[in-house]
Amino acid sequence: MDEKLNRLKKNIEEQEALLAAKQCLGCAHEGMLVTTLDGTITEATSAAEHILETASAGLRGHSIHEFCTARDAYDEMSRQAVREERAWNRSMVVSAGDGKRKVVNMSIQRAGAPAALRLVHVFQDCTDLRTMEERLLQSERLATVGRFASQIAHEIRNPLNSILLNIELLEDEIAESNKEGRGLIRSVLRELDRLNDIVSEYLQYSRFPKPHLKRGRVDGVIQGLRDSFHARQGIQLTVNLAASTPELWLDEGLLRQVLDNLMRNANEAIEGEGTIELETDVMDRFLAIRVKDSGVGISLEARAKLFEPFFTTKSHGTGLGLATSQQIVFEHNGHLLVESQPGKGSTFSILLPL
Ligand code: ADP
Ligand code: MG
Repeated sequence: MDEKLNRLKKNIEEQEALLAAKQCLGCAHEGMLVTTLDGTITEATSAAEHILETASAGLRGHSIHEFCTARDAYDEMSRQAVREERAWNRSMVVSAGDGKRKVVNMSIQRAGAPAALRLVHVFQDCTDLRTMEERLLQSERLATVGRFASQIAHEIRNPLNSILLNIELLEDEIAESNKEGRGLIRSVLRELDRLNDIVSEYLQYSRFPKPHLKRGRVDGVIQGLRDSFHARQGIQLTVNLAASTPELWLDEGLLRQVLDNLMRNANEAIEGEGTIELETDVMDRFLAIRVKDSGVGISLEARAKLFEPFFTTKSHGTGLGLATSQQIVFEHNGHLLVESQPGKGSTFSILLPL
């Protein structure tokens, strides 16, 4: 009898603890969803319903895939969460009520006994603000690195220019008939050009200007880019613009710089034949500009460091393109998101607030 009573007492205590935990979660600003491994939602907090703008009928019984429509990104993260017990975190676009799309910061962690594994999703609506900390940290890092970069670039640029000038003079001195001599000079000039590009990238980064935001449309920037961009041979560039893109606050010159960086990366990620797609799309309170490539994709390890200054996997890369781009997008109060499937390609999305 005693034993039965004890068990009952313990049961009640457990229920009470569970209830208290649920009440706590009910107050949190972050949404929380628990799903089975096939994606069926078994628990949802009211913040989750608020963020996903679901009618009061609730989320239970629905599939998480109705909301996480970027299947590749979601499936990859949930697979990782099943494999390894830690919280996996990333920004992603979810589809809220009425098909409205929102940017959330989501973390997924597995929980429960192996026979009845569950996935716990905690997410935060970051439509309005991505953690200020993250932005501050990045801009401080950029400022320090920028000072070094600027010094080095200036030291290199002057001698580089005088070498360039002298080599061009030397080229004039060599007779047309001296094929070997002229060939050598041309290859030196090519390398000097490359060095010059690198130095320019450093300077572009270190002189990072404050944007002058004006109301305008992005169409002009994209058209200009379409006309001037040199896709490598075998690469097909397609441009799909939304039927009408709304006006937003932007610095055309800087946005062009971001798109140029993303397109150049896409070009470099494709080995042999492939495609680059540039598209715009209105999502909730944002205009999305996407650069999709069918290139090599980005490994998980690389993804964690992608936006760090000087991170590069290329033998001749500077690792400054994405760091600068992210900072410019932040200055527009926007987001720069990446989705990638190693071996299949990557999509970089610039989200600019309307
Ligand atoms: P860099 O191009 O000089 O290497 P970035 O900051 O532009 O510097 O890019 C950093 C790294 O991110 C690249 O070296 C590459 O590994 C990875 N990366 C960027 N864009 C892509 C892409 N579209 N596809 C695959 N990898 C990419
Ligand atoms: Mg680059």
